[in-house]
Amino acid sequence: MNNNFLRAVFFLSFCQAFSVPQVTLIIVIDQFAYHELQKLLPFFKGGIKFLHDNGINYTYAVQPQGTPVTGTGHAVISTGTYAAEHGIISNSWFDAHGKKVICDEDPEMPVIAPHGVYSYGRSAKNLYVDTLSDQIILNSSPHAQCNVLSLSLKSRAAILMAGNLGKALWFDERSGRFTSSKAYYSALPQWLTEFNNKNHLRKNGIMWHLNKKNKSAYNFKLTHNYNYVDGHESLIEHLNPKLFLKTPPANQLLMECATSAFLEWFEKKSLNNHLVMWLSISSLDKVGHLYGPYAQETIDMLYHIDEHLGIFLNTIFEHVDKQELLVALTSDHGVHPIMQLVKKQGLDFARKVNSSRLRAALNKYIEQKFGYKNSIEHIKIPYCYCNPTIKNLPARELTRIKRAIVEQLRKYPGIKNCWLIEDLLSQQFQASSIEYHLQKQYYPGRSGDIIFQIMPYTDMSKIPWGTKHNAPYDYDTHVPLMLYHPSTLPAQTIDERVIIQQLPVTLAHFLQVPRPSASTCDILPGI
Ligand SMILES: [Zn+2]
Repeated sequence: MNNNFLRAVFFLSFCQAFSVPQVTLIIVIDQFAYHELQKLLPFFKGGIKFLHDNGINYTYAVQPQGTPVTGTGHAVISTGTYAAEHGIISNSWFDAHGKKVICDEDPEMPVIAPHGVYSYGRSAKNLYVDTLSDQIILNSSPHAQCNVLSLSLKSRAAILMAGNLGKALWFDERSGRFTSSKAYYSALPQWLTEFNNKNHLRKNGIMWHLNKKNKSAYNFKLTHNYNYVDGHESLIEHLNPKLFLKTPPANQLLMECATSAFLEWFEKKSLNNHLVMWLSISSLDKVGHLYGPYAQETIDMLYHIDEHLGIFLNTIFEHVDKQELLVALTSDHGVHPIMQLVKKQGLDFARKVNSSRLRAALNKYIEQKFGYKNSIEHIKIPYCYCNPTIKNLPARELTRIKRAIVEQLRKYPGIKNCWLIEDLLSQQFQASSIEYHLQKQYYPGRSGDIIFQIMPYTDMSKIPWGTKHNAPYDYDTHVPLMLYHPSTLPAQTIDERVIIQQLPVTLAHFLQVPRPSASTCDILPGI
């Protein structure tokens, strides 16, 4: 072989290795904790298993949030920043006047709902930085166009991944149809209207059958404990007339919609046309809140997701060469077990704190000590929001009251630490510490006046049932992260700690576009 031939071979393989993937899929499984992957991996056979075995598997990927939730988690995945930059501190918050704001609400952007079912509009206007989707659209050109589509059952998931310039589609439970808002489309695309007409939900309900015949796939402890479930009932092998979004067919419908979107793009695409599709799979979160991660409902939901993802990926493989594909899989947050069940197993410190009772106790204390009624208007973990009326007090008096709340809150069972916002912000913490994650969740005008950290295995809620994901601990922050790009990445396992902010930066590297502009982190190791 002569040198020229070798040079040509090297050049060709270089071009192949560094070409932009024709199709990029970013799959987010809402509420998929790493501990669930560890437990169920031996029984997965579909899409999750394929990506785990054939891509890079990061065993310690963290959603570094003080209070991990869907809105914040999806904003992290799309912007590569903390809430201190992107502004989505939670799914909702209270503004300076004490008014509740939902993270994706926008009265000026009505939802396209032919059946008139939505009461308020939606867009990404509360997101204060650009996303990877925005960078892709900003940097596409007539000879290298890219379609960016974001789908989910939840509007906030679809919108926060699409940003302002991608196209977001989500599911409207009341009409049983996928929809969008005027922020993204003037009218729904034809293919979606056809999909909606064909797949309009049956009104007589959905039956949930177990995914696996092999009984050992469900042989874990506490799979059938319904004592702490609202309604005390199983959803499996029952007809569920009203609970569609809490059943596997809801995720299946989403993935069928994604398949239709992909086929529509594939049929109409021109040469050099690329597709970036975000897909956030929501029903695990809905069932996880109700039953907790130990329950057979939650386990079986994941088996169904694994199977349906496999079918979805196979459709893509039939149309696009695997060498032209980039697929990422991760989650917005994890989940903790139902605390009453943890306590029953012997962790005596596990507890559920009722936030309404906590607020009443603190307000009573302040009233007795200072004479001011209802000084805390809202407690929404990790914040206490002071009543706007006491904020008119002289600064010294207001600080005295807030410090008294902090001191009292520190004594409350289940509270690990507590700060005035200004005290937390003035300190320096290590970037991997819980205090740093709480600090980086602060956004002025959205966060409360006092911030607190709960103890491990403490759940804070107004309701006695089910479970949540609102703690800065491993069970709520440690999530799966897999990256599949067979043309450049060999299958491997990476055990070093990474943060999910690194994912969009890494995707920007593969897509050869600038990273989301407020992100400052490195690309993922192993690339
Ligand atoms: Zn949730």
